[in-house]
Amino acid sequence: MNIVIFGPPGAGKGTQSNYIVKKFNLFPLSTGEFLRKEIKNKTELGSKIASIVNSGSLVSDEIASKLNEKIICQQQYKNRIIFDGYPRNIIQAQNLEFLLKKYDQKIDIVIKLAVKLESIKKRISGRSVCSLCGKIYNDFYNPAPKNSNCCSSKFLHKRGDDTLEVATKRFQTYEKATEPLLDFYKKLGLLKVVDGESPIDQIYKEISDILALVEAWL
Ligand code: AMP
Repeated sequence: MNIVIFGPPGAGKGTQSNYIVKKFNLFPLSTGEFLRKEIKNKTELGSKIASIVNSGSLVSDEIASKLNEKIICQQQYKNRIIFDGYPRNIIQAQNLEFLLKKYDQKIDIVIKLAVKLESIKKRISGRSVCSLCGKIYNDFYNPAPKNSNCCSSKFLHKRGDDTLEVATKRFQTYEKATEPLLDFYKKLGLLKVVDGESPIDQIYKEISDILALVEAWL
């Protein structure tokens, strides 16, 4: 089963992916996470894209597609990928169709997390990530545990693009380039919309139920 998890920045895609991958034995392919690693490791690609990512714009479709192909081509991940943050425009959606076909795969379901702009602002401004385990927390909704060795304040950090200014730009990019994709997937009969304003475990339960049904059909 290949899944696309879709929604505006701060919708909870990463949080839900973290849970879903465990339950359904999937590989989380977060394009943003891959790009952040390149930047952190100061690779050649990282230095080329740092200013683009930190300003809230999209990196080129070619770069995004190449990163995705690195995973899609591997037999060990065949039909067990959750795409988080990809595709983000029509060209990328077409590239993804092409790539999956090339490796004899397809998308089985697209889950959109619907969240209002006001909530997104709060989520992004309160968000922190544990640099050891990758767990995502939020000061308002889901604070990090106080007595944890792993997710202590020493290891929690804010993403460079999680400022209100950059987040607003990311949201605008989403509305202009990414939201129109919903129609693309609706026409393919793949789209399911989940209320992303509900509590985390309720969203997780809803997504799990949908995925269990999809899995049963395959
Ligand atoms: P995310 O972690 O999904 O919020 O992505 C963080 C940033 O990485 C985005 O604002 C873009 O700059 C870049 N990025 C992530 N996914 C893509 C993509 N599919 N295409 C282009 N740029 C991307």
